[in-house]
Amino acid sequence: MAVDLHVHSSVSDGTEPPDAVVAKAASLGLSAIALTDHDTLSGIPAARAAAASLPTDLVPGVELSVDHDGLKLHMLAYFIEPDAGPLQDRLAMLRAGRDTRNVVIVERLNALGYPITMEDVLRHAGGDAVGRPHIADALVEAGSISSRSEAFEDLLSDGGRAYVERKRLTATEAIDLTIQSGGVNSIAHPLTVNTDASILRSVLGDLRDAGLVGLEAYYSEYAPAIRSQLASVAADLGLVATGGSDYHGAGKPGLEIGTGHGDLVVPGAALEELRQRRP
Ligand code: AMP
Ligand code: FE
Ligand code: FE
Ligand code: ZN
Repeated sequence: MAVDLHVHSSVSDGTEPPDAVVAKAASLGLSAIALTDHDTLSGIPAARAAAASLPTDLVPGVELSVDHDGLKLHMLAYFIEPDAGPLQDRLAMLRAGRDTRNVVIVERLNALGYPITMEDVLRHAGGDAVGRPHIADALVEAGSISSRSEAFEDLLSDGGRAYVERKRLTATEAIDLTIQSGGVNSIAHPLTVNTDASILRSVLGDLRDAGLVGLEAYYSEYAPAIRSQLASVAADLGLVATGGSDYHGAGKPGLEIGTGHGDLVVPGAALEELRQRRP
């Protein structure tokens, strides 16, 4: 049966509560989903409670933004419980880094003539991981911009006019902390790493040697031929080919849980392989 190992809820920048996301996954016939909100596990208890009475398993996860040799990548961590622990404790610091960064972005926007406040931003946040998507929502509400993606184009994207960096882990720190917390990592949407194929491959080899377990090959935004190529890269490197939709509810219009744009299938075997590779 199919699974979805990359899903966001309203505790970060998705728009639907964790229990609603799990209920939707069950209605779509998925055998399991991983809730992977940015920098927070606060949606896991409600998601798990919803899954308890449904035929869909809930994998506790989180998505991290990391640096490696000057490259920016996103890393998924699976089997991380919402308790105290090495990675869990570091997430609190990462969220604090978001909060201070967000204030500076709002100041920059004000200086650029966009009169939004932090209160406006927080009204769009449903949980404890607040970020650029919520700032984008506040800009849309103020009427100056029409969508989240338009807000990113010129203002909020990396290098955009109101962009401000935030504290990130290095990739190897994230892997070490994940292993210490009993989890495994997969590199999310690997083609957003802005580099050529041979460098990406050598980075993946280095990270595998550092304890990386998976590579997100079956990603909603990639064409089927690209998914197959990435699954071959994963197999060559001894990594598990994982996959997911990166569902964000109305935050990424046109994407469905499990099937993405309609053609995504993430095999349940990917989750079984991840389970077998737990530390
Ligand atoms: P932050 O984690 O606060 O730095 O914000 C980054 C998040 O914004 C990413 O993880 C995406 O979920 C989202 N994002 C990035 N680019 C775009 C875009 N062009 N349109 C909508 N959302 C985006
Ligand atoms: Fe996101
Ligand atoms: Fe991501
Ligand atoms: Zn994501």
